[in-house]
Amino acid sequence: MAYEFDLLTIGAGSGGVAGSRRAAAYGPRVGIIEEARIGGTCVLRGCVPKKLLIYGVDIADTLADAAGFGWSIDGASLDWRKLIAAKDNELDRLHGIYVSMLDKAGVARIEGRGVLVDPHTVQVGDRRVTAERILIATGGWPTVPDIPGKELMITSNEALDLKNLPERIVIYGAGYIAVEFAGIFRAAGCTVDLVFRGDQVLRGFDGEVRAHLTDSLAARGINLLPGRTIASVAEEGAARRVTLSDGSVILAGQVMAATGRAPNTKGLGLEAVGVQTGVQGEIIVDNWSRTSVPSIYAVGDVTNRFNLTPVAIAEARAVAETLYNQNPMSVFENIVPTAVFSRPEVGTVGLSEEAALAAGHKLDIYTTRFRPMKNTISGRAERTFMKLVVDQPSQRVLGAHMVGPDAAEIVQGLAVALTCGATKQQFDRTIGLHPSAAEEFVTLRDKRT
Ligand code: NDP
Repeated sequence: MAYEFDLLTIGAGSGGVAGSRRAAAYGPRVGIIEEARIGGTCVLRGCVPKKLLIYGVDIADTLADAAGFGWSIDGASLDWRKLIAAKDNELDRLHGIYVSMLDKAGVARIEGRGVLVDPHTVQVGDRRVTAERILIATGGWPTVPDIPGKELMITSNEALDLKNLPERIVIYGAGYIAVEFAGIFRAAGCTVDLVFRGDQVLRGFDGEVRAHLTDSLAARGINLLPGRTIASVAEEGAARRVTLSDGSVILAGQVMAATGRAPNTKGLGLEAVGVQTGVQGEIIVDNWSRTSVPSIYAVGDVTNRFNLTPVAIAEARAVAETLYNQNPMSVFENIVPTAVFSRPEVGTVGLSEEAALAAGHKLDIYTTRFRPMKNTISGRAERTFMKLVVDQPSQRVLGAHMVGPDAAEIVQGLAVALTCGATKQQFDRTIGLHPSAAEEFVTLRDKRT
């Protein structure tokens, strides 16, 4: 049968765009369907706008540190609306770049919502589009817990676009999004209450990283309310009345749910076509991103594997390489670095101490806590934390973790070393770059006893 396209992608976010462009480069006819703006979560509602806001509020640290270095800065203030407008301008620019990248690659853009009709057909409005293969890259969407007044809560989508900064904001959750937005709003001058059911932030990260960050957030003036849930939210005039599980009440201008994201699979027609999904609605795929239907592939957050932009991009390009360049690729064995852009920042690659022990490794652990040089003169008390998790018999470095300025930038470099299987001796042999914080990673001498 003659199809309109060789590959038809549903969802023009990071994964969908990367896979479509890579495939098109090898000759097939590629189309991409998007119901909103081209760009997806990362570019329009996630990583990029979040990081732009962080750059904006980080200036508060520079201003606070300035006096120690001899500067007098009086009357500095943040115009939140200007920051939001500047961020929006940049997103418009990036959106334009994404559109032109697709056009230059020869990928046909189809506007509308795509619904699967059969293994080779997608309905978009009143148009039926056919393809030999279909790539689903529809991403995820924030979830809000089912509590009374949940409709009064905002999510990261709205938090990135707030026209007015609330005096006080309650943030629910203690994952990536919760701690990142807690940092943004606190630095912008808001009172921030972080309500979470665990005892420390960032479940799943290394225990010492969690403890160090939890303490650092408290020291930056974020009200930590662990071991609690939000029982209800109600309107009280223009404010929100937030009742916690311990009976306490907070009146705040905004309440934000940062309690996880769910795969975007509702209404996609998956069941009718026979694409298997898991308990959270995620599309089940193998290491080659193949679904249970041979002509249909899925990548990125919709598959709920590592829900990170670079992973979605790698998965999508691997599909394109495998199908259209006789270059079979899968990404399942990769070591995945990740950063949390909290204030201070977290960077991590490889195994946490807990995960390494659970996997049966005997470990050597190296840690250091120190006051970064800049903080000596500025008077800032915050300390940096670094940790290496080393497999004792082989001396291979299994994990590298950091909480502190530039953690993301530093850990990206270490991810190369870990991907190459570097040992502690190879770290030791590496000459430090002085004066830097990063050099501490190659000068760790004392094993934890
Ligand atoms: P996370 O899964 O990271 O965190 C969810 C938080 O909400 C946890 O603290 C969790 O608690 C809590 N929670 C979940 N359900 C409930 C509930 N019903 N009631 C109360 N608390 C609840 O999700 P995020 O929304 O923060 O982020 C989603 C994903 O997006 C991340 O996992 C990450 O993959 C990606 N992301 C990556 C970023 C980056 O790379 N910098 C930035 C932002 C997002 P508990 O731990 O107890 O389960």
